[in-house]
Amino acid sequence: MLKLNSHPSGRHFLQIPGPSTVPDRILRAMDHPTIDHRGPEFQALGKKVLADIKQVFKTQSHVVIYPASGTGAWEAALVNTLSPGDKVLMYETGHFATLWKRLAERMSLQPEFLGGDWRRGVNAAEIEARLAEDTGHEIKAVCVVHNETSTGVTSDIAAVRRALDNARHPALLLVDTISSLGSIDYRHDEWGVDVTVSGSQKGLMLPPGISFNAVSAKALAASKKAKLPRAFWAWDEIIESNKNGFWPYTPATNTLYGLSEACDMLFEEGLDNVFQRHQRHAEATRQAVRAWGLEILCQNPAEYSGVLTAVVMPKDANGQHYNADVLRKTILTNFNMSLGQGLSKLSGWVFRIGHLGDFNDLTLCGTIAGVEMGLGLANVPHTKGGIQAAMESLAKSVSIPEAKAA
Ligand SMILES: *Cc1c(COP(=O)(O)O)cnc(C)c1O
Repeated sequence: MLKLNSHPSGRHFLQIPGPSTVPDRILRAMDHPTIDHRGPEFQALGKKVLADIKQVFKTQSHVVIYPASGTGAWEAALVNTLSPGDKVLMYETGHFATLWKRLAERMSLQPEFLGGDWRRGVNAAEIEARLAEDTGHEIKAVCVVHNETSTGVTSDIAAVRRALDNARHPALLLVDTISSLGSIDYRHDEWGVDVTVSGSQKGLMLPPGISFNAVSAKALAASKKAKLPRAFWAWDEIIESNKNGFWPYTPATNTLYGLSEACDMLFEEGLDNVFQRHQRHAEATRQAVRAWGLEILCQNPAEYSGVLTAVVMPKDANGQHYNADVLRKTILTNFNMSLGQGLSKLSGWVFRIGHLGDFNDLTLCGTIAGVEMGLGLANVPHTKGGIQAAMESLAKSVSIPEAKAA
């Protein structure tokens, strides 16, 4: 048993789907004196990160970087492009989509929520049908979450783009990639997204604290006419100042050192390899869950998330789910590993295994072993052998072909 006031040996396993573990390389890059944010040394850093981050979003357009959590970037996307009372079409994929909708309401927008069951992604056909009805073009924006972190479901953003095009509707397309950027393939330009919202603490492997808006030319044009009040979030002054590598206010200097390092790491590995690694680890995790005899929350295999797997607790003889939070607590106290809790309506009967960011095969084995031992200690009915299934899945898909041959 881990005593709270004693020093735990070894690293904590932070297997929540964000914040993710910050690798040593990034910690060292940030461990640097804070510099003059109006001086030449900062200017070089500013120009580098502004150029690098565009490659991660796969865009030629500008990416605005805020000293804020992802929620700030959600607000920024709305207040820069919309006016009070505007209708926005949002899709209920889960907890995070619901929070974004509430934020829109508080900003005096009129969100219309297309209902979902929290086990599937965005239904693009439903969006197309709703847009086709809107012949007066009252809907000014469509907002969707790419990777719904509460459920482990990834939506097809290219399909949502096609829905707008098929309906010949001029609404802006706003996408939340807070938990997918740098982990799951994402293409801001190719998919015709107008504002992509993201954050630092998930796929980008940074501490919490900075967030992003990638802005299309169409979104920038909309921002000139949008009437929602904005100051801190206003793109125009930031973009102007960014031209010289600076910000109109104090940027998060040390986190930007980390961002520079994170981009170097992603490019060294290669973005496609990073995405493939996440899919491999997600697949091995699902093999473990199935071997335990437990259910994966996501019901559409085409939408399984590479970032996290949400697991449904089994039911007892009375039809009640075994308690996911008791399981998580057992695992935390005995094995020093944090797992994600079930959020809002999933609370108590779902837990989430994060497998994103700075993560490798043996981190996955440690994670799965911790869950399997926890299931036993918490007396949750399951079949042993999840760890074996995960190991087999990993071994038959080793990422380095030479290593396999040798
Ligand atoms: C984490 C997360 C958020 C919230 O971001 P904060 O940095 O906590 O403000 C929003 N959307 C998604 C999909 C997320 O995963």
